Amino acid sequence: MLKLNNLTKSYGRIKAVNNINLEVRPGEIFGFLGPNGAGKTTTIKMIVGLLKPDEGMITLAGIDIWQEPLKAKSMISYVPDNPAVYDKLKGIEFLNFIADMYGISKEERLRKIDYFSKLFNIEHALENLISSYSHGMKQKLVLTSALINDPKLFILDEPMVGLDPKSSFNLKEIMRQMCDEGKIVFFSTHVMEVAERLCDRIAIINKGQIVTVGTMEELRSSAKDEETLEKIFLELTEDE
Ligand code: ATP
Repeated sequence: MLKLNNLTKSYGRIKAVNNINLEVRPGEIFGFLGPNGAGKTTTIKMIVGLLKPDEGMITLAGIDIWQEPLKAKSMISYVPDNPAVYDKLKGIEFLNFIADMYGISKEERLRKIDYFSKLFNIEHALENLISSYSHGMKQKLVLTSALINDPKLFILDEPMVGLDPKSSFNLKEIMRQMCDEGKIVFFSTHVMEVAERLCDRIAIINKGQIVTVGTMEELRSSAKDEETLEKIFLELTEDE
């Protein structure tokens, strides 16, 4: 279980995340939606241990992410919206570097690298420098690196942006497969159709606060009519 308790974070006078509470269960694909500046990235960065909350607590499988960061981080893979990669490394060197950090055995990493690099169609480029990669190739390299350690929590910020239809389809299949194995997949997106089709539950955040959370059915039943996620989203996030 991933638990966010009374989580708050400000940048100066801007309250980016304002006292949010959320529970995500193993086996769920959880969509985190909200307009620009709503607080999605700030929340995600706190979950993965990159930003320290001003108040509140985050636990994963009972482990406090700020009290036991190494233990918690060994269970997490994070794909940011704009991943930084080491341009002067070859693709394979980057993957081995990540595998080393997670302490993945030789056999296991070979198996994972072979499988995911083929799935994302980058296996032919692994001996080349990352600086020669296109944006999409870098993204697929980072996705491959994030899947090497078989994370309990797979957390992605806007993962579909820049992926071609086949890679996007493959990623969605992987997300579903991970959930079937009892993992948590938590991702932010602006693409309502993806969220509507893929997620078991959805939370909408606006101005740093969760305005609704539930399954698509629950969101629909609390809306005015039988509505699409897009309409529900717009109603809940419009400025009064
Ligand atoms: P987007 O959809 O545009 O990625 P988001 O939902 O991820 O937006 P955040 O990036 O978490 O939103 O931003 C939440 C609020 O915090 C916004 O008001 C934003 O301007 C502010 N903010 C975010 N990062 C910083 C920062 N480094 N310094 C100051 N303010 C920040």
